[in-house]
Parts: sequence; structure tokens; C-alpha cells
Amino acid sequence: MSDYCIRGTANDGQVRLWAAVTTELCEEARQRHDTYPTATAALGRVLTAGAMMGLNLKGQDILTIRVNGDGPLGSIVVTANAMGVVRGYVDNPHTQLPAKSPGKLDVGGAVGKNGLLHISKDLGLKEAYTGSVPLVNGEIGEDLTRYFAESEQTPSAIALGVLVDTDNRVRAAGGFMVQLMPGASEESAIQLEENINRLPQVSRMVDEGLTPEDIAEQVLAGMDFQILETTPLYFHCPCSRERSQWILKGMGQEELSSLLAEQGSAELVCSFCGNKHNFTAEDLAKIIDELSCEA
Ligand code: ZN
Repeated sequence: MSDYCIRGTANDGQVRLWAAVTTELCEEARQRHDTYPTATAALGRVLTAGAMMGLNLKGQDILTIRVNGDGPLGSIVVTANAMGVVRGYVDNPHTQLPAKSPGKLDVGGAVGKNGLLHISKDLGLKEAYTGSVPLVNGEIGEDLTRYFAESEQTPSAIALGVLVDTDNRVRAAGGFMVQLMPGASEESAIQLEENINRLPQVSRMVDEGLTPEDIAEQVLAGMDFQILETTPLYFHCPCSRERSQWILKGMGQEELSSLLAEQGSAELVCSFCGNKHNFTAEDLAKIIDELSCEA
């Protein structure tokens, strides 16, 4: 497993940074959902952002990012937690648009420029936090920058990149996120801006073999940087046959009986990971039986 994220601070806590390589988890998402290149890049960018942002949560809390644009992709939904576990999907995985320029996939065109970016944090027993902002351009990085500025009053710079190879596989993916903390000096802000303006595309950096540490070094060049945490990242979905069974049970005796009569079996497909759970006529009859006993 080569995907991981580092979290650190620079200049005595004035700057916070996350840098991640996400090639494998983006490729796993591509395989699971059979995404075409433009959809692969769009989903990969949101997965990468989710992976980094999820690390700010605590315990079992869950972050959900929803990008609802008016483009052909439909919605993109990603969830992440503090353990580096991410999963996600796009409504229309076979979305493919002509590239804007060689190697530059038209993510903004696929997402659409009109719509909303929603962030929710399910904080265990506490009430869920939600915030949303209008999309800037559907390219994800700038949309998230706006979210942090408007909803969390935190000046940020976010770079996300997914390089799709000629065989449609994810060749390199990763990103970084830097934030200025309250009280950060003007010098820190200027230095950071100069550094970021000098950088090549983040997917190119990953493709050249740069690690999250290498990326951090370039983003924070000239600053005193300290790594606080290194977290492996992976695509994982907690769905299971048991959960699917719960969903069937939730339909109730009557609806299940008509499903059994009409279709003879049921197949539940998890939208997050594409896993299928099949229930035969016998399985369905058993669930209906259990429901009638409970009633
Ligand atoms: Zn699943």
C-alpha cells in the first residue's frame, strides 16, 4: 500500500499542511465503478480531498462531501474518516468529455459550474454539522477553497490531481491542502503563495515519484516544517450482506412478499463500492418469515 497522507505544521503553527498520494485508492474506485477518464479524474479529486479532510475528524466521526453540479456527471459523493478510510461514487461513471488541452481533463465541464458543494460531518451522537457553498468552477480544488473561506473562515489553498493513463488506468493521483491559521504573518502568506505558484501540477509531481513528504517540502520551501502524523489511506466500504438484509427487512412484510412474487429474488448493489448482495427466493422467504414472527 503506497497511498498515505502526512499532516504537519510550519512556522510555529502559522501554517497547517496535508499532503497525500492517492493513486491506488483512485484506481480502485475506477475499477469498482468502471469510470471513464473524466469521471475518474472528478471522483479521484473528491476522494483525495476527502481523504485529507477526514483526518481532521475524531474517533468514529464521518465526513461526507457532496458535489451537486448541473453537468453530465450528476452528483459525486465521498465519505471519509479519521482512519484514512475513504469511499465514493459518481452518478454517471461513463461521463467522458473532450480534454481541455492534452493531459487536462475537463472536470469542471463534467461537474458543471452551477450547483452546490455540501460538506457534512456526522459527529457521533452530536448533531451533524453541515455547510454548503455555490460551486466556483466545478474543478473541485477552488470549490473547496471557497468552502473553507466562507464556511470555516479559513484561508486555504488546495491542489488536487489525477493523471489518467492512455489505458484509462489511474497513473498518478494526489494533492495537498495548506491553511493559514489566525495570526499568521504576512511573510508566511507571501512565501506560501510564491511557493505554490512555482509548483507544477500535483499529479505530475506524484507521477515523477514525489512522496507526500517531498510535496510538503516544495509547498513549504523556506519554512520550518514539522510532520505531526502519517496515515495510510485506502478505499473501503463497510457495507455487508447483513446490512443489505437490514435494508430488505426495513421494506416490511408486505412489500417483500410482492417483491418475492414479482421478481423471485433480489440483488442489492451498494452505490458506494459496487458490491452486490444477492438474495434467493429462499432467503427472501426466510426474511419474511422472521418479520411475521416479530410482528
Ligand atoms: Zn459498499
